[in-house]
Amino acid sequence: EKGNIITVVGSGLIGRSWAMVFLSGGHQVKIYDNKPGQASEAIAEIRKQLEELEHAGMLRGNLSSAEQLSLLSSREDLQQALEGAFFVQECVFEELEAKQSVFHEVESLVSDGVILSSSTSCLMPSNVFARVQNRTRCIVSHPVNPPYYVRLVELVPHPETLPAVMDAAFSLMTDAGQVPVRLRKEIDGFALNRVQYAIIAESWRLVQDGVISVKDIDLVMSEGLGMRYAFIGPIETMHLNAPQGNEGMKRVLDTFGPVPNFSGEPAARITKEICALVPGDQQHLAARRERRDQLLMGLAKLKK
Ligand code: NAD
Repeated sequence: EKGNIITVVGSGLIGRSWAMVFLSGGHQVKIYDNKPGQASEAIAEIRKQLEELEHAGMLRGNLSSAEQLSLLSSREDLQQALEGAFFVQECVFEELEAKQSVFHEVESLVSDGVILSSSTSCLMPSNVFARVQNRTRCIVSHPVNPPYYVRLVELVPHPETLPAVMDAAFSLMTDAGQVPVRLRKEIDGFALNRVQYAIIAESWRLVQDGVISVKDIDLVMSEGLGMRYAFIGPIETMHLNAPQGNEGMKRVLDTFGPVPNFSGEPAARITKEICALVPGDQQHLAARRERRDQLLMGLAKLKK
């Protein structure tokens, strides 16, 4: 029998989300956070969210919210939090030093077969796990916010990671209802952010060069490409369009400008334009994030 306990280290936004995903998969989840009281706060927040999701008919998995909550606990002590775990998901601040020392300490407290997984968005596995002795069991499992509705997880190996560890993480994520993808080797930005940055760069250039407004380039994505990309990726898109050939695409790509530096006068102008649409104060931003998550919930329902 495979182990069933997963330890989540760091209980901010992403730690809480991972806990909810793993609970929906029927795992026992133990949360640890080095800020006193933070883990029990996380539990209260997760309780509230699971009950709301159940009420909205959006709870994931086969268990009720009460059953899922009975699988959740927190420890104020890292060693106790790690006891019995087969998988550790690290979700601490995005700082190399913090992650390196967390994994160094975690490794000293778990046996050799335990998988060490990091949520890092932007750090390379070879750096994150530099202070771990046995790096064959290390992996990055990069979620997308909010993971409860956006199910992609990028699995990125350390150069020494065993295929069996990639496979185990892949099964764990799949069983918990996520959609894992495998990178065959580490690369800065992984796959999702590299594609995202390409889109942002060209959108920025088009606005900066006066070709289109901020409002309209965002509509190009939300009412155009995004409609398709929720279901069909870029390579299948090409495949479906095949008879048109790729000459036009190559010609246009040759006209792309250099990487923008996202600063100075153009940045001030673009910021002013977006703030006229979505004011940049915390209250407006929080409301827009809430709206985004509600819309993603609807899309997740539709995709199911
Ligand atoms: P956060 O600031 O909300 O939470 C971090 C938590 O880690 C805090 O509760 C903090 O007390 C705790 N912590 C810090 N150092 C610790 C330590 N040494 N031991 C135990 N706990 C510690 O951050 P977040 O947004 O949840 O991000 C966590 C990780 O997930 C980051 O690596 C981030 O890049 C990644 N990530 C974030 C997003 C996102 O959209 N927020 C998306 C994908 C991946």
